Amino acid sequence: MSAITLTGLTIWNGHEIVDADAIRIEGEHIVAVGDGESLQKNSTRISCDGATAIPGLIDAHVHLELNPEHKKAPERTDTSQDPQMTERAATMVRHGITTARDLGGGAWLELKLRDRINAGELPGPRLICSGQPITSTRGHCHFWGGEAANLNEAKIVLQRQVDHGVDLIKVMASGGRMTAGSDPRKAQFSVETLSALVAEAKSHGLPVAAHCHGTEGIEVAALAGVSTIEHCSWVGKEGWASDYQAPIAELILDKGIWVSPTVNKGWQRMLDSENSSVLDRIRKAYVKMLELGIQFVASTDAGIPGIFHHELPSALNVFSQIAGLSAIETLRSATSNAARALGIDKQTGALLAGRRADILLLDGNPLTDLSALTSPVSVWARGRNVFSLR
Ligand SMILES: [Zn+2]
Repeated sequence: MSAITLTGLTIWNGHEIVDADAIRIEGEHIVAVGDGESLQKNSTRISCDGATAIPGLIDAHVHLELNPEHKKAPERTDTSQDPQMTERAATMVRHGITTARDLGGGAWLELKLRDRINAGELPGPRLICSGQPITSTRGHCHFWGGEAANLNEAKIVLQRQVDHGVDLIKVMASGGRMTAGSDPRKAQFSVETLSALVAEAKSHGLPVAAHCHGTEGIEVAALAGVSTIEHCSWVGKEGWASDYQAPIAELILDKGIWVSPTVNKGWQRMLDSENSSVLDRIRKAYVKMLELGIQFVASTDAGIPGIFHHELPSALNVFSQIAGLSAIETLRSATSNAARALGIDKQTGALLAGRRADILLLDGNPLTDLSALTSPVSVWARGRNVFSLR
């Protein structure tokens, strides 16, 4: 097996800056992080003088099937998106996103893409896919085919995803904005139903991600013990982030549920706006959750109108400002912590011997300036060089 050694680096390994300047890669793996002089023996040396190495980024919430150029939600699964999905995946990985969790499509096209990327046939991030989200009758994103009127029907939808080889289950625990007639404030399933689905998913070894805007849905998801709460918008009668409830937040903490707030580049609009009462409420809710000890994972909901799949690197700057996270905390939310949240921390999310060689090399210092993330020098995904500036 031919070895490659990247030398002349400053290395942030997903947790801290380490006393080392080189990374040795063999096949798909990092085999050593250490001193360039000794690591480079019997390998191809690639000099990266002045670059900072960080783990490849993880976007915990994307939809490869959705075309961000479309102005509104689709009415059905658009299987003509197939070639564009391949292109989206390639663009993502070239921008440094080496893992992405796909939280919903209608035709399992993203699973086929996942398998081709894993086989080395196509460039792209490691994909973790949910297939069709389970939703209520005419509920949020019902057009993807996951409608269920009761627990029995929901179990049939779940089994269909298992049969297609999904990596996790997605449930729409509340309504959403993308689907006419669905109410973000209302829970779509009872605690009993969602708990039964979490248990059923667990029996297949699968975690559950729950879409939750309203406080009602957040409470149901927390009680049911899902793995991640998507959005977590605390929507109440007075609107977005108007109904934060401390006892429910404590439940999220106690159950070790991760929050994936899907703060993307589009939120820059709120930062720019003069009148930002909604933003103030959102910030307060985030600060309270973070102070309590709830852990956030970076995510963008890429694919929704105007939010492109490769934009996590620029979204992280917005996320940091809105959630009041330091640059390092933000980077952890998109690397080591994200890997833990997704249950893949033995594979990726850190620059350590034994992990896959998912590496982002940057000019500048992302630990003090997140805008460095938008100008990669090179990107390595599972030991393959997928982008190189020089
Ligand atoms: Zn989504």
